[in-house]
Amino acid sequence: AKHAGRSTFAWYTPDMDADAQKRKEIEAGLAKALKFDQFELLFQPQYSLSDNKLKAYESLIRWNHPTKGYIAPDVFIPIAEDCGLISSIGDWVLEQACREASTWKDPALRVAVNVSAAQFLSGDTVHKVAHALQTSGLAAERLEIEITESLLISNTEKVVETLNKIRDMGVSIAMDDFGTGYSSLSYLSKFPFDKIKIDRSFIHNLGQDASTDAIVTSIIGLGRSLDVTITAEGVENQEQVTLLRAAGCNLVQGFLYGRPDTVQSHERLMAERDAK
Ligand code: C2E
Ligand code: CA
Ligand code: CA
Ligand code: CA
Repeated sequence: AKHAGRSTFAWYTPDMDADAQKRKEIEAGLAKALKFDQFELLFQPQYSLSDNKLKAYESLIRWNHPTKGYIAPDVFIPIAEDCGLISSIGDWVLEQACREASTWKDPALRVAVNVSAAQFLSGDTVHKVAHALQTSGLAAERLEIEITESLLISNTEKVVETLNKIRDMGVSIAMDDFGTGYSSLSYLSKFPFDKIKIDRSFIHNLGQDASTDAIVTSIIGLGRSLDVTITAEGVENQEQVTLLRAAGCNLVQGFLYGRPDTVQSHERLMAERDAK
């Protein structure tokens, strides 16, 4: 109905009513979710291609709603960004991820935390990162902040300054979803990154069409020449691994290596694999 053309009033549909209703419900629910401890963090492993070793976990939030069950972050994070709740949710994620990582048996394992642009810009991110490290006792070198291009569109100087302060603490910065935005390449020279995560839409088509293979190979080559670590996300099969390894990709993350889950479940699976 949105495309109904001339009739300017035809944009309104019962569907939109339902959408707006759903948004309102989610907004109201989000406020309660923090209070009633309904958020959980799951962790997805990242492996090094050179030695096949586990190097890090990315933390991914889940909302365990009392009546609706699990709600995906793609559904509620954008709403939390719009209504301002992202700041307190993001604080919880940062603190919780650092706290949990500080209990891991392997003291070299790193933890990657997603920080949305709205969250990054909403408060004193430097102070928040420092606080999460301090209260958890996690070494700064074990923390990695994942940001997306949407942060880099505005306020360049302030963002660069903040990113540099975070890096000065010893925390590393990863650019998430690389290649999906308007000017990923130009941001590489303007902003200080330690790592690039090639978006899973590219990895999905790897080995399927020659142009995707060429793009992925170039991103990896570019990363190597800029001395930036490259992670491929959404790795689902061995053919992708073969291509990524040949291109010189550093780290891999995806269902082939493990789905987002509790660290205990990952450890159990790894122990079973080792026993075989
Ligand atoms: P993302 O940061 O790009 O996270 C990767 C997403 O890809 C995760 O979805 C993960 O489950 C999924 N994924 C991983 N491997 C594979 C694979 O092999 N195949 C496929 N098809 N998918 C794979 P998830 O957990 O639903 O998260 C979606 C997005 O929500 C994240 O995308 C991130 O942008 C956002 N998000 C998640 N947790 C947080 C958080 O704590 N804070 C903020 N601000 N955003 C978060
Ligand atoms: Ca991410
Ligand atoms: Ca991503
Ligand atoms: Ca994403």
